[in-house]
Amino acid sequence: MKYESSWINDDVRMFRDNVRAFIAKEFVPQQARWRAQHGPDADDWLRAARAGLLLSDVPEAYGGGGGTFAHECVVLEELARAGVHFGSQVHTTVAHYILAYGTEEQKRRWLPRMGRGELVGAIAMTEPGAGSDLQAIQTLARREGDEYVISGSKTFITNGMRAGLVCVAARTNPKAVGMRAISLIVVETDGLAGYRAGRPLEKVGMQQQDTCELFFDSVRVPAANLLGPIEGRGFAQLMEQLPYERLQIAVGAVAMAEQAVEITTRYVKERKAFGKPLFDLQNTRFKLAECKTRAQVGRVFLDSCIERYLAGRLDETSTAMAKYWLTEMQCRIVDECVQLHGGYGYMTEYPIARMWADARVQRIYAGSNEIMKELIAWSL
Ligand SMILES: Cc1cc2nc3c(=O)[nH]c(=O)nc-3n(C[C@H](O)[C@H](O)[C@H](O)COP(=O)(O)OP(=O)(O)OC[C@H]3O[C@@H](n4cnc5c(N)ncnc54)[C@H](O)[C@@H]3O)c2cc1C
Repeated sequence: MKYESSWINDDVRMFRDNVRAFIAKEFVPQQARWRAQHGPDADDWLRAARAGLLLSDVPEAYGGGGGTFAHECVVLEELARAGVHFGSQVHTTVAHYILAYGTEEQKRRWLPRMGRGELVGAIAMTEPGAGSDLQAIQTLARREGDEYVISGSKTFITNGMRAGLVCVAARTNPKAVGMRAISLIVVETDGLAGYRAGRPLEKVGMQQQDTCELFFDSVRVPAANLLGPIEGRGFAQLMEQLPYERLQIAVGAVAMAEQAVEITTRYVKERKAFGKPLFDLQNTRFKLAECKTRAQVGRVFLDSCIERYLAGRLDETSTAMAKYWLTEMQCRIVDECVQLHGGYGYMTEYPIARMWADARVQRIYAGSNEIMKELIAWSL
């Protein structure tokens, strides 16, 4: 009997059918255009919202889909399988920050518009001088009466060009050292004086997803946009929420690895060399057997993480293991599959070539895999 994840039930299965059909019809045909213009259109966000792809695991009372993390996994898996990089993952992550730390007023002000796709979310932690070492960020949010005045710059920000709502990690206490210096402040960007998104960054892969620099030149936002009741909680909030984002990344990693095995199996059964399909060569079968085994081992570990997350019992060490190990597995499998495609595997018109370029960053962002190993080592 074929293995099926235990977190899938009839409701989730039905949701998957709808999400898959929507992506195939509405998003797949647009990929070349998105790549050329470095991101989807505003209208694509609205349509994704209507199809239930945004905030799937946020309560309906706040404009979300009212599902569980299982529904979010379906969205992530279906996007990964279709090779569509859309930015909904970061968008949903931002919603989770607001859900976890926002006041009732903040949740009602921002989440429904995010759920409708009218307000696109971004999270701005990384700076030119601070990536892995988040405590070193220099963006300053100075309190002046009822406002924060934000100055600094951020880089590599997903959804940056389109974002109407940016969750900014900034130093609210320049004198404090370490983690208590940082707070999260939500910035509504529409018509905001002193705020500017830079040009789209030229990436090796994931060109359909917008990534850019953000500049804050004495940007004024209401002090009421602070997330959480007091300043200085930002670093702790990031540490609490980053596991959600890392698990999202692991979900996409396994889905892409499985898809790579599937399309490569089809390819080698059709492509002939020395008068017979590549699949008849023992090396090809063995390589694919290894890849399929690795992907399934990864799937079982991922499913255990998803089940524990759904039950509220997933620990940070396991999340770091999932992000680290499953993205390494993804890159290894995709690379083997490129090899099995021969020269065609290096041509961008072939999905496997794009997967290869897209996969690489999974080991870098949301905390590099070296940082994941540090986190895992803390448990030793
Ligand atoms: C496509 C893309 C999208 C992104 N989206 C976002 C986003 O939406 N929001 C956001 O805030 N950021 C985003 N990032 C930034 C990403 O999270 C950072 O690139 C990442 O955290 C690494 O930081 P860095 O690039 O400054 O590398 P560095 O921190 O300079 O690291 C360089 C190398 O040193 C290693 N290293 C660093 N510290 C240690 C250590 N203590 N022990 C061992 N090795 C170490 C790293 O693992 C890495 O291999 C994105 C990046 C990319 C490429």
